[in-house]
Amino acid sequence: MAAENVLIQTYAMFVFLISRLIFSFGNKSKPWISTTTTTNNKGPTTTPLFPNNNKENGYNLRNDSEALEMASSDYGNMVREIPAAVLDPSSINDIANLIKSSNNSSTPFRIAPRGQGHSIRGQAMAKNGVVINMTALKGHRNGTGIVVSGNRTASGSGYYYYADVGGEQLWIDVLHATLEHGLSPVSWTDYLYLTVGGTLSNAGISGTAFRYGPQISNVYELDVITGKGEFVTCSAHKNSELFHAVLGGLGQFGVIVRARIVLEPAPKRVKWVRMLYTNFSEFAEDQERLIKMNDRKDKNALDYLEDRVRSGELKLQSQGLWEVPHPWLNLFIPKSRIEEFNAAVFKDIVLKRNITTGPVLLYPMNRNK
Ligand SMILES: Cc1cc2nc3c(=O)[nH]c(=O)nc-3n(C[C@H](O)[C@H](O)[C@H](O)COP(=O)(O)OP(=O)(O)OC[C@H]3O[C@@H](n4cnc5c(N)ncnc54)[C@H](O)[C@@H]3O)c2cc1C
Repeated sequence: MAAENVLIQTYAMFVFLISRLIFSFGNKSKPWISTTTTTNNKGPTTTPLFPNNNKENGYNLRNDSEALEMASSDYGNMVREIPAAVLDPSSINDIANLIKSSNNSSTPFRIAPRGQGHSIRGQAMAKNGVVINMTALKGHRNGTGIVVSGNRTASGSGYYYYADVGGEQLWIDVLHATLEHGLSPVSWTDYLYLTVGGTLSNAGISGTAFRYGPQISNVYELDVITGKGEFVTCSAHKNSELFHAVLGGLGQFGVIVRARIVLEPAPKRVKWVRMLYTNFSEFAEDQERLIKMNDRKDKNALDYLEDRVRSGELKLQSQGLWEVPHPWLNLFIPKSRIEEFNAAVFKDIVLKRNITTGPVLLYPMNRNK
């Protein structure tokens, strides 16, 4: 069939293995300095980077053990990088000022924005630098953290909807706020207790991506604090290079402080079907068949959303098993190699060695989404 030729399916896999990636905002491995030194004809003068560092003046740069502990660990529980300080921003300006301070310093320091810290390999850490605790911004938004709006389409024949969301907001809160208007984002992660800035700095993939693409394909616009500490609004049409660099950019190209997320009317009812397979080939073929119905407007197309991870989290937390190392790995496998992967990895390694604890998620994807 023609449709079969057009679709290029790729499988995204989430398995328990190790990936090693090093991320932090800026790549300079310089020690954090809390002072800056200038020299004039009277000799060197040393001044603190944040001379007015206290809550009243807007900065809240902390180096107490609780803050440092939080910022030097993550969900993966395999990497530990201790920062010199943690910034609890009370405004977007605090973030801009911190980045400018680093730029103006003779020894710039590392800066990493941190959402929920659900990364696996220290991506939100900043050794000897400053971690920006994005979630601190939540308390300072004064009701502007999630704002739902609609506009007429260019043709004037209908409306399109969106939510302006702070980078520090959780997807679960975005879901609740948009549902109040009968709307919802279209592309999700399976687990919703992640920040908008955090998943947009990755990709945001789940069982909805085959139809709508990943979350980064469903953003109209971003407000970003750049590496120079400048506030820039960007989209696919305006400052597009920055827009595409920041989406999926792991905090390397700027800090997302607002994202305009695509919304569509939320379904009022859904039908959930669970099917069990014992034959991998049949399972893979059915997945491929089902995701061929993938037009956004197609009423017969399948949708998919479930927050099955949250219930697992609560159960593991109650057993003290949530804080263990999580050596996860995400892989994209081309359709042409999935059978081979099944034989070599699932059958020959996982089943033969009986290492079957923990889930393996297999998402069929359309690469053109
Ligand atoms: C239980 C669990 C389930 C998951 N399920 C899925 C899933 O279904 N699909 C999926 O795609 N992923 C999933 N993930 C992975 C998840 O999307 C990433 O780990 C994501 O980074 C977590 O968001 P966070 O808010 O914790 O970000 P963090 O781990 O805090 O940060 C992630 C990266 O983004 C950067 N960053 C954070 N905030 C900002 C910002 N505002 N601006 C710029 N950069 C920023 C950080 O510096 C870091 O590089 C899951 C993770 C866990 C732990």
